[in-house]
Amino acid sequence: MAGTNGSAPILISGGGIGGLITGYALARQGFPVRLFEQSPEFREVGAGIQLGPNIFRVLEKIGLKDAVLADAHRPPAQEMRDALTGKLIVRIPLEEAFFQRFGEPYAVTHRADIHGTFLKACQNSNLVTLETSRRVDSFEDTGKGVTVTLENGQKAEGRALIGCDGMWSKIRERIVGDGKPRVSGHIAYRAVLKREDVPKDLWRPEVVLWAGPRTHLVHYPLRRGELYNLVAVFHSDHYEEGWNAEGSKDLLWQHFKGQCPEVLRMLERIETWRMWVLCDREPVKNWTLGRVTLLGDAAHPMLQYLAQGACMATEDAVLLAEKARAHPDDLPAAFNAYTQDRYLRTARVQIMARVYGDFYHARGVTAELRDITLSGRTPQQSYDGIAWLYGGP
Ligand SMILES: Cc1cc2nc3c(=O)[nH]c(=O)nc-3n(C[C@H](O)[C@H](O)[C@H](O)COP(=O)(O)OP(=O)(O)OC[C@H]3O[C@@H](n4cnc5c(N)ncnc54)[C@H](O)[C@@H]3O)c2cc1C
Repeated sequence: MAGTNGSAPILISGGGIGGLITGYALARQGFPVRLFEQSPEFREVGAGIQLGPNIFRVLEKIGLKDAVLADAHRPPAQEMRDALTGKLIVRIPLEEAFFQRFGEPYAVTHRADIHGTFLKACQNSNLVTLETSRRVDSFEDTGKGVTVTLENGQKAEGRALIGCDGMWSKIRERIVGDGKPRVSGHIAYRAVLKREDVPKDLWRPEVVLWAGPRTHLVHYPLRRGELYNLVAVFHSDHYEEGWNAEGSKDLLWQHFKGQCPEVLRMLERIETWRMWVLCDREPVKNWTLGRVTLLGDAAHPMLQYLAQGACMATEDAVLLAEKARAHPDDLPAAFNAYTQDRYLRTARVQIMARVYGDFYHARGVTAELRDITLSGRTPQQSYDGIAWLYGGP
């Protein structure tokens, strides 16, 4: 196997979805890995995540597709509805015809479930060492390896470093140096309900998106249908780093008042909302410097409107491990090849996610045009429109 036999580990900063899947993918290619997570435990926030067919194509390659699908829910369709009138704008079937077109399923899952599957895969590998309460502070590329300094002053030696440290990446500061993320002006509130807490007539197996003026609400079942995920998004200039602040209900109601009864009744079910201030960055052509590279949100943070951040991190990880396998003695070359293969695809998702956000939140004539355009589409035309994304990588 490539990269084994007493060689120094590849270091990873960050144990989110991106860091864990990278650790596992590299270990499968024979590389020892040492992963540092700043939190005292490995954990994901309580919310859902949508998984397009493109993630399953790469999970299949590394043997984790069935494990991810085991906890997931398979929605029969995606629906877009008008949040003011309640009318259906478009329904995109996600069953047989979708599978025939893309060769892989569409699923939704709890973030903790997919994160837990990746964590277990790492724990079961004798090549992956996982360390919590370890914050990576700085690094030095010595030409022959990388020395990382942790916040507690300890040093760690590796043959390379991969920054999987998310939107506010410390590693990115040195490699790309493009300052803070761009604040989109959009805020997402999230909540997860038990199935029995959702009124029977409101529970739907589909992924439903209620498009309103400068707002949208998405809901879908999670964990084999036992839970129900809600994400409400609206425009606001509020800024707060991190993914776990509590959101003010009054602010939410200011933005959703006047919407149709289904939307308002669903929002009323939520006692406490957690909040994400949505940010992204301009795409860049390169995020590798010598023996150090970036992955996932650290490399190409995107708005969530195409539901692809975790899917892109997973695609990154599997490709990066393949490139490392192809160049085990020249990781800078492997990292460069990985970046060059990934930057245009991820840039397209970053850019198109913004366009989709504008589309979901359209008002007046723009919303009318959106509805006419989308409602006239056949399922095959809808599939054609997203084939650049779901047909890859
Ligand atoms: C509202 C919303 C909905 C979304 N929906 C979807 C969806 O449906 N489908 C989808 O595919 N994606 C979705 N995403 C995107 C997805 O959540 C992210 O792209 C993905 O979680 C990024 O994973 P990551 O591992 O790159 O970063 P993160 O999840 O941010 O993980 C970074 C990790 O690094 C750790 N860390 C940070 N700094 C350090 C340091 N210095 N030292 C050590 N550890 C450090 C952090 O504690 C964290 O554990 C959504 C995002 C949002 C905001």
